[in-house]
Amino acid sequence: MAAADGRSSYDVAIVGGGNLGLWTARGLARRGVGRIVVLDRGWFGFGATARSAGMVRAQGGTATAVLLGLRSRDLYQRLGAEIGLDDGFTRTGYYVLAESADEADHFRALVALRQRLGADGEWIDADAGRRRVPWLDWSGFAGATFDPDDGYVHPPIAARNITIAIHRAPGVDLIEGSAVVGIAPAAGHWRVSHAGGRIEAERIVLAGGAAGGRLAAMIGLDLPIVGGRHHVVAYAAVGPEMPWPFPQLFAVARGFYLRPEEQGALVGLSRREPTDDSGRFALPIDRAFVDARLRAIEALAPGLAGQPLTRLWSAAVDYTPDALPIVDEAAPGCVVVAGGGHGMMWGPALGEAAAELTVEGTLAGLPADEVGIARFASGGADVQEPISLTAPLA
Ligand SMILES: Cc1cc2nc3c(=O)[nH]c(=O)nc-3n(C[C@H](O)[C@H](O)[C@H](O)COP(=O)(O)OP(=O)(O)OC[C@H]3O[C@@H](n4cnc5c(N)ncnc54)[C@H](O)[C@@H]3O)c2cc1C
Repeated sequence: MAAADGRSSYDVAIVGGGNLGLWTARGLARRGVGRIVVLDRGWFGFGATARSAGMVRAQGGTATAVLLGLRSRDLYQRLGAEIGLDDGFTRTGYYVLAESADEADHFRALVALRQRLGADGEWIDADAGRRRVPWLDWSGFAGATFDPDDGYVHPPIAARNITIAIHRAPGVDLIEGSAVVGIAPAAGHWRVSHAGGRIEAERIVLAGGAAGGRLAAMIGLDLPIVGGRHHVVAYAAVGPEMPWPFPQLFAVARGFYLRPEEQGALVGLSRREPTDDSGRFALPIDRAFVDARLRAIEALAPGLAGQPLTRLWSAAVDYTPDALPIVDEAAPGCVVVAGGGHGMMWGPALGEAAAELTVEGTLAGLPADEVGIARFASGGADVQEPISLTAPLA
């Protein structure tokens, strides 16, 4: 266990050292908060962050999604420049594929929304798609939206860079390998018990990813952050008909996405299945499901067919019912931040927002009805993020 310097009293304690918790720590340090601690039961990036595919897009389906994507894309790149290391971001351009006529109409309208908010982007029909991406069978698709500035962040670099940044910030203690087992209010502050000891903090931020609901339950809150299984497969190579690097694509209705990975390709696969509330990140692989889906995807993109695989894994995504994030003060002095399953494309901006809320008590520029927990009170959220993975069963 990497322990803090013996201090046990903090201005802010952050539980969870994933993308969101770490970017929150950075936002707090930049706002002059003097004594910050980040605790993780594993290591920084241990949860979904290092297991993710790292797809980053400003092609969201709501204003919140677009703004968080735009800001985060920029923040990754700025952080790399600031610390003098690779920013981990690869700009590939990104097609989000529409199937039905209704979906095509909806996606066309989203292009206008994104442009209003400052993102680049366009709608292309299937004929234009065939010319631009000839290695994909477009016969089942009506067209796609495209943003040339979208891409992916390499997850290990994302975790490394933000950890380095906060490690260099004065007043930040980092505790790895120590699970938080209890959180309780105590005379105007919070008492956080973890495997390595006990700390007191004036304010806390809960950033537990798929285990976020379990953390919230420690203080009696019932928050709908659930784990849902997601598979990722990496191909070691692609065929010559698929010139590398190729643009990313997301077939929303079919629940899969594709991006370049080293000299090959990476595919993400989701389906509707029961939630996993174990709080674990490593989940069993369903080999039959993966094989069947890969055959279907290889029929659409024959450049993948017959190529050797190099990695296959399955892990818990931190879903919310509407696939939108949570940034809210859930109890006095306790901010909850969760990525709604999009914590790589939104994490840096969500961390900034959580820091702002913790220090200033405000949340400029993010609509409460898309990030606040009150939206779940009446049994369901009014707004859904439509450009998202197939969600698990409620
Ligand atoms: C396979 C996969 C692919 C994905 N692909 C993408 C993608 O392409 N794009 C995208 O935007 N998102 C993607 N996601 C989702 C994204 O990875 C998450 O939304 C994001 O990483 C969440 O960040 P986080 O910091 O909230 O949670 P996490 O990264 O999960 O971090 C939470 C941390 O909290 C710690 N923790 C939990 N409980 C405790 C406790 N009791 N005590 C101490 N520490 C605790 C954990 O150890 C963990 O490190 C993917 C997820 C998966 C699983």
